[in-house]
Amino acid sequence: MTRIVCRACGSGRIIPDAQPLDHDGTTRQPLLVAAPVANPSTGLLGLAATSSPTRARVCGDCGLVELYAVDTARMWAEHTGA
Ligand SMILES: [Zn+2]
Repeated sequence: MTRIVCRACGSGRIIPDAQPLDHDGTTRQPLLVAAPVANPSTGLLGLAATSSPTRARVCGDCGLVELYAVDTARMWAEHTGA
């Protein structure tokens, strides 16, 4: 297992799979990240952006929070059109 360390302070006290929530957590919906797509679809429900839920790593010493997208393969494909 790879040991995760904080990029800011070098601590190994990392909470590896925290869930970023909306502004006050009342809906418990995951925070999304969005990017434009290479080939936007047209029409009423046309999509101009691709998105993914995010997860976070939290440092238990300095408090650094790192966000990462969960569905990176699909996002990359839709963003690049590849
Ligand atoms: Zn840290």
